[in-house]
Amino acid sequence: MTITIDTTRCIGCGMCAYAAPQVFRVVGKYSTVIAQPAASRDPKVSNAENGCPVNAITVAK
Ligand code: SF4
Repeated sequence: MTITIDTTRCIGCGMCAYAAPQVFRVVGKYSTVIAQPAASRDPKVSNAENGCPVNAITVAK
């Protein structure tokens, strides 16, 4: 699983960091991936991906 964040879209709302704090952290104005999860399917990451209001999160499986 490889997670990327499109910082041209991210508005720094913090939803992803709330949904999966072990993976996302808002630093300054944008979210940052602080750890790529090893599991092929992490429901918290899926929640973050689906909850992003601007579709800035991409998860490559
Ligand atoms: S949920 Fe989306 S817009 Fe909000 S901080 Fe995370 S990546 Fe950025």
